Amino acid sequence: MPLIWAETLIWAELAWLGDAVERGVLIEIDGDRFGAVTPGVEQPPPDARRLAGVTVPGLANVHSHAFHRALRGRTHAGKGSFWTWREQMYAVATRLTPDSYLDLARAVYGEMALAGVTAVGEFHYLHHDTGGARYADPNAMSAALVQAAAEAGIRITLLDTCYLTGGVQRPLEGPQLRFGDGDAARWAERVQAFRPAGDHARVGAALHSVRGVPADQIPEVVAATGDAPLHVHLSEQRAENDGCLAAYGRTPTGVLADAGALGPATTTVHSTHLTAEDIGLLGGAGAGVCMCPTTERDLADGIGPARALADAGSPLSLGSDSHAVIDLFEEARAVELDERLRTEQRGHWTAAALLHAATVAGHAAIGWPHAGRIATGAPADLVTVGLDSIRLAGTRADTAAASLVFAATAADVRHVTVSGREVVRDGEHLLLGDVAARLSATIGAVLP
Ligand SMILES: [Zn+2]
Repeated sequence: MPLIWAETLIWAELAWLGDAVERGVLIEIDGDRFGAVTPGVEQPPPDARRLAGVTVPGLANVHSHAFHRALRGRTHAGKGSFWTWREQMYAVATRLTPDSYLDLARAVYGEMALAGVTAVGEFHYLHHDTGGARYADPNAMSAALVQAAAEAGIRITLLDTCYLTGGVQRPLEGPQLRFGDGDAARWAERVQAFRPAGDHARVGAALHSVRGVPADQIPEVVAATGDAPLHVHLSEQRAENDGCLAAYGRTPTGVLADAGALGPATTTVHSTHLTAEDIGLLGGAGAGVCMCPTTERDLADGIGPARALADAGSPLSLGSDSHAVIDLFEEARAVELDERLRTEQRGHWTAAALLHAATVAGHAAIGWPHAGRIATGAPADLVTVGLDSIRLAGTRADTAAASLVFAATAADVRHVTVSGREVVRDGEHLLLGDVAARLSATIGAVLP
């Protein structure tokens, strides 16, 4: 049985407290929040649970499409492009029902928990039945995702995605019909009727992209979203820019800016092919950027200007998007390593800055502004990375943050606590048991 660590004491051998790895950190958990956090306690008190390794705050996976996990390893034959990959993705989308999506998403979120993800931003557009008919409960798919997260023990921000067109000024067709609500008003009416079950869930919004939402529909989505997070795929492919320029005479970023869609609650995803003016618009608005490097390289998207965006004022967060892998350490280091390859220079991002992106900034981007830090009053989320693996043996306390960012993998995560509840212990998911078997069964059931 999972433990609820009410008024529990934890002694972490090493813990990341936001600026540095500290030794001997005594952490009180009071219900679902942290109580006192005290570094420099040399000996664990007798009543404290001892966590060996490095303990960090919960990781936020800011950009997820849970069902894409079914495609892992199956899209690499031949050459192809983002657009041929998309056809394979649609083939899976065609087969899902609320029941089968619950099974698949529960297992995918279980994999995330095992990787140290304590909150996910689910960019959700698979809303309706085949052909676009609404289910009896028009939010049945959203409810399935929220339930899946609850059963996997993680928090979720359901980013309900407005998706109205299959390309700039092209109607939805075929498998895409399941994504559409007709217009922004019908999308807003459906989303505003959704009441997620459970304290673990919040609702935000998304514009699929300037391909998926006509410019004249964007202001209505922005107005309906209010202060909640608003996410949007942006300039992932050059073809999107070309189509947008042809239709509107503006870049995708320019269209979003003109429609009032850029602000501090906005997160643009990918943001790969930007002009200098785009970077100025995004940074000036304080809009965040979520990079998904393992997906971007998988789909041959290109390398986005994460450093230039951050310098302009756009906070960085991270997502595993298509789930080619689910490993936030890999996403974090890829931001720096891709920049090294592009510039032939090292040292664009520190390990501390990348941990910040994976924790504090990530949670802020999906509407959990107090999470992602081991600090009094914050949600009690903890991820402990063992240092006894072949990969991390020899790690020293003074360089432990760099060891995590540049050498750890999801497989090194040993223990995970979410909102004061122990979800993973010694690499075992306490709520779901054998997550690999669940993934195998559910993916086998939904593959074409
Ligand atoms: Zn995406």
